[in-house]
Parts: sequence; structure tokens; C-alpha cells
Amino acid sequence: MNVKQSEELYKEACEHIVGGVNSPSRSFQGVGGGAPIFMERGEGAYFYDVDGNRYIDYLGAYGPIITGHAHPHITEAIKRSAEDGTLYGTPTRFENQFSKMLKGAIPSLEKVRFVNSGTEAVMTTIRVARAYTGRNKIIKFAGCYHGHSDLVLVAAGSGPSTLGSPDSAGVTQNIAEEVITVPFNDPKAFETAINKWGDQIAAVLVEPIVGNFGIVEPAPGFLERVHSLTHEAGALIIYDEVITAFRFTYGGAQNLLNLTPDMTAMGKIIGGGLPIGAYGGKTKIMESVAPLGPAYSAGTMSGNPASMRAGIACLEVLKEEGTYERLDFLGNKLEEGLVELIQKYNIPATVNRLKGALTLYFTTQPVTNYEEAESSDGQLFASFFKKMLHQGINLAPSKYEAWFITTAHVEKDIDETLIAAEHAFRELAEEI
Ligand code: PMP
Repeated sequence: MNVKQSEELYKEACEHIVGGVNSPSRSFQGVGGGAPIFMERGEGAYFYDVDGNRYIDYLGAYGPIITGHAHPHITEAIKRSAEDGTLYGTPTRFENQFSKMLKGAIPSLEKVRFVNSGTEAVMTTIRVARAYTGRNKIIKFAGCYHGHSDLVLVAAGSGPSTLGSPDSAGVTQNIAEEVITVPFNDPKAFETAINKWGDQIAAVLVEPIVGNFGIVEPAPGFLERVHSLTHEAGALIIYDEVITAFRFTYGGAQNLLNLTPDMTAMGKIIGGGLPIGAYGGKTKIMESVAPLGPAYSAGTMSGNPASMRAGIACLEVLKEEGTYERLDFLGNKLEEGLVELIQKYNIPATVNRLKGALTLYFTTQPVTNYEEAESSDGQLFASFFKKMLHQGINLAPSKYEAWFITTAHVEKDIDETLIAAEHAFRELAEEI
């Protein structure tokens, strides 16, 4: 496969853009280095790069693109919005329309507020929880990603009941000490942390179905236990549904799990491919937000008409009958095919899947938490990743990222992907 133009563009990018990329997840550092592919155009399930190669895309822009690239209904909404003026700085009726749609789909959102990214949404829910409870600390779970604000760039301390340490240079020790990180799916560790810090905890922040160390579902009863211990301690539960909202059903993971958080953060899919974030929850908590309450939350771009109209259009597409059944059908076909090949070529790998999202880990043990996801063999993944890319299959360059199927994928795409995977596994088997 010729990727000469991508290589040249990457060289140029490195001269002007730090690291050549505008988000580190786009670099190929984790898969042995080299130039990332520069895409020229996306259409449905496909990408076309600057050298003219075609790819079946499973990156889905790290989640937002669930209806395929350039979906005509969303494109039309964005065009119309551009013609009407891109940014007003005044309220518009689209904000009302979209907030009603979100509330209709996710009943725990009694009141919502729009922001511009998942990072902003999570960051603000934490501020609101602190304002509401008058407490400072938060508990989060190892390996869950909540954006790039200081408070969530904190790693676990030396045990489940110890305070955190900075996970990025520039995050202060003081901030890290406000965060306790415990393993996902470990109710004992969570109980230990609550017993030690409970009366100082403002909120427990969790991806109810994890998307950030691959697709990992909560063990039966785990989240229920988290809910009851958190509420007994007088703290709030915040669901980070930035990846999961509208991913598995028309609504949040909370609809599937039949659980009700106090607040929810969203992003990605709800913007239909444009920048967006939103958070919401119980009215009495949300009334802490300015201009009604003392917790500040603002934004020049927040609730901008283009993002609102793209989001409305995206949800309209997702609401069509059979959407999630189709995603599940294709996800199942892909999973079954991969598992069959893993067995045929004796590859040390395992697949986690929920509906149209799956993760292939290069480990033989089941993956239920971050430590197990971390044990996925990075070198095997890097080799698999490059073999797939060179056959026109675009995955995320990370050993435990999800593959996202869109409503634009068809069975033929899955068949083509499995043929590529068979080639990759056959070669990999010789390398092991
Ligand atoms: N929370 C979760 C669960 C996410 O997956 C992400 C992004 N990967 C974020 C928050 C941050 O969202 P954004 O990149 O839009 O700031």
C-alpha cells in the first residue's frame, strides 16, 4: 500500500504542530511509530486517504460517528445551519428542541446544560457536585478516561484507599490528593475507599459501561453496590456517558442497566460529528448552576446552533426502527468471525463485545478491569494493527480501544474485515 503522501504530510505536520497531531491518541507511537494515515474524505463506512487508498473504518472518530461519515441527513442539517449563520450568542429554539429530545431518551436528565466537549461536561459535573454537597473529593475507577481536565488526570495511589498521584506533568499534587482511584468491578476496594473517605466525597464518577480500556461491562450487582454505598455516604453518582450515550440503545447505558445516576455527562454521538458536550441530572442538583446557583458553567460556543442541529439530526437517524438491532447483528457477526479465527490460528486473544462495539485484546484471560486490559500484548496488537491497516481496515492505534460499527456498515464490510483478519492472524501465528 502506497502511503507516500501521508508520510510527507506527517513530516510537514511535525514541523508546525507539536508531535504532528492534535490529540496524542492519533499518533502511532503505541503501535511502533511511523506516520499516521492522513484521511482525505469519509463516506459511509469508508475512509479515503490522501494517497487514494480506501479503508473500512472502525475508529468512528473515537465514537461520535455512529451513522457513518457524511450521513446525508446530518450533512443537510449542518448545511442549513451554516446558511442561517453559525453562531449567535443568543438562545435558539434548537437548544429547546434538543434538550427535550435528550430528556425524552434519558429520563434522569431533568435539566440539562450544553457545553462543547466531553471534557467540559465531566469537569463541570464535578464542580456542580462539589457545590451541591460542599465536599471536595471524588472517587473514580482505574482505566476509565474522563477527558483532559486536571482533576481526572490523576492516577491511582498505592492502594484502593490511598489518595492519587498526578497522571500528567502540570497536574499538582494538591489536585491529585482530591481523587481516589479504585479498580472497576471490585466492590470490596470501593467499600474500603468509601469507609475511609466517605464523609469527604462529593461524587463518584464512573463510566457505567467502560469504553476506555475496551468495552467492559459492570459485573452483576457491582454498580448497584456503588450506588447504595455512595448514597449512604451522602455523595452523588455521576455517570460519564460520553462514549455510551446512544451507543447501545436510544438513550444511555443507564437505560440498559436500569439505574439512575444523580448526574450524567455526555458528548461524542450527541453532536452528530460536531463539537459538543452536555450534562444534566436532578433539578435540585442542577439548580446549583449559574445563573440560578453558585456553580459557574459557561461557554461562547455552548449550545451553538450548528452542533444542536447536527445532534438533533443524528438522534433522528438513530431513532429509526431497527438501528440498534442492526448494530448488534453486525457486531455479533464480527465477534463470531474473530473468535472462530482466534481458535483456528491459536491466537492468544479474547473479544469483549456489547452490541455494535467490541474490543480484541491480545490476552487469553477474560477482561473485567483495567489491569486485565493492560495485560493485552502491545507488540502483538501493533503487528495486527499494521497488518489490518495495510489491508484497508482502519482501527484505533491502541491495544484496548473499541472497534465501533456504524449504521453505514453492511455485511459485506464485515466479511471483508474477517478476510483481512484471517491474513493477519495467519501471519501473526508464525511470529508468535
Ligand atoms: N469521558 C469519556 C468516557 C470519554 O471517552 C472521553 C473522550 N474519549 C471524554 C470523557 C472526553 O471527551 P472529549 O474528548 O470530547 O473532551
